[in-house]
Amino acid sequence: MLTTYDGQEVWFVTGSQTMYGEETLRQVAEQSRQVVAGLEGLPVRVVWRPVLTDPDSIRRLALDANARDEVIGIVAWMHTFSPAKMWIAGLDALRKPLLHLHTQANLELPWADIDFDFMNLNQAAHGDREFGYIQTRLGVARKTVSGHVSDPRVLCEIETWQRAAAAWTAARSLRIARFGDNMRYVAVTEGDKTEAELRFGVQVNTWGVNELAAAVDDVAPADVDTLVEEYADRYDVAPELLPGGERHGSLRDGAAIELGLRSFLEGGGFGAFTTSFEDLGGLRQLPGLAVQRLMAEGYGFGAEGDWKTAILVRVANVMGAGLPGGASLMEDYTYDLVPGHERILGAHMLEVAPSLTTAVPSLEVHPLAIGGKDDPVRLVFTADPGPAVVVAMSDLRDRFRLVANVVENLSAPDLPHLPVGRAVWRPAPDFRTSSACWLAAGAAHHTVMTTTVGVDVFRDFAEIARTELLVIDETTTVQAFQHELRWNHAYHRLATGL
Ligand code: MN
Repeated sequence: MLTTYDGQEVWFVTGSQTMYGEETLRQVAEQSRQVVAGLEGLPVRVVWRPVLTDPDSIRRLALDANARDEVIGIVAWMHTFSPAKMWIAGLDALRKPLLHLHTQANLELPWADIDFDFMNLNQAAHGDREFGYIQTRLGVARKTVSGHVSDPRVLCEIETWQRAAAAWTAARSLRIARFGDNMRYVAVTEGDKTEAELRFGVQVNTWGVNELAAAVDDVAPADVDTLVEEYADRYDVAPELLPGGERHGSLRDGAAIELGLRSFLEGGGFGAFTTSFEDLGGLRQLPGLAVQRLMAEGYGFGAEGDWKTAILVRVANVMGAGLPGGASLMEDYTYDLVPGHERILGAHMLEVAPSLTTAVPSLEVHPLAIGGKDDPVRLVFTADPGPAVVVAMSDLRDRFRLVANVVENLSAPDLPHLPVGRAVWRPAPDFRTSSACWLAAGAAHHTVMTTTVGVDVFRDFAEIARTELLVIDETTTVQAFQHELRWNHAYHRLATGL
């Protein structure tokens, strides 16, 4: 699964007007190239575009950006005063994420030398205010970043937006294969798939699980041999699963499921998938190991037919491209409620991505009461200690709601009798506040847990997607959060229109 920003670009657009004359516009172009040079090293390449000075070229640039798949966003800066009615048609046409960079070519003012030529050239302080006005007037979703490009905080904020824009781009072309439907009677994993395609661009469709089982049956034994060798190289494989071991057949079945699933996903161009333990058809095991490894490679996944969480896992994998850590399906499972030291133990039946750990996972087979199939193989590990975020998506009937909680993964005690991938975390600001807010928001029990990026990338993503995001972090109180829920309810209904 492709999780890289290679070949993608962000266009850097500078606004001005013809009134300044050729000499000044030449300086504007030169200085905006210097600003772009200061953006080297960001994960997505920033490409300088010629200075825009009239409505027609601005509109043409927006249409051009829309038409190019490799352009994942626009950074705009008004070096000089660019009368903003020139931008109406272009901003109205633009369909790509927008970042308004409020910057200036020079860091310090040359106080002793300032004359009016200098003032005439360096006008972003009011040029960008004119641009801010028209964006607000038109209701343009964007991120605004202020400061000089030599400030690492400015670069960090732009990188955060780039990662969100890349995730948005991935969502726009994401295809999800659902094997079977949602778990029977479950409410929160339901949702409006048609709305999801309009809102996020994600195509969500179902295939009979026996089509997957047929792909598994088609796997060549020699390919299983090769994959089993890879398992032995990468993991601490239980002796009973190794060639010659008593239960080697279980590992071969697990490997065949991985190969069949992979060929099905690659053949159909899918970037995410769901399974259902109630609908396993001809599969011999509930897919565990295969799902874990595919998530770690960048695929999205949701268990029990949960396609909304599958979107989030894929999106979070793209956000974190190239960074240490990973993204995984997670489920709040059980609590340690010692007052003042409350912790959450998260896991799933099997499907937690090993990208959450730097340790070597153990590959084991154990019985699983759920699903009624053979004992499934799975990777067993604990997520590394460190900062993480969990994010859930609920369908509130008239819109999707994202809820994010900033958490801290902790080192876990030994868990010798718990043979699954898991994480142990402390939620911010504290357990009582976090869980009360989570429940008040109607947030789901399935989440994506990511250890690669912070909550700010999700904020930028939500802004681009024009989707509600509620954040529970160190600053959250239950009272303020409840107000936010009520205000958001009114706001989003009004913003959607009738
Ligand atoms: Mn579940």
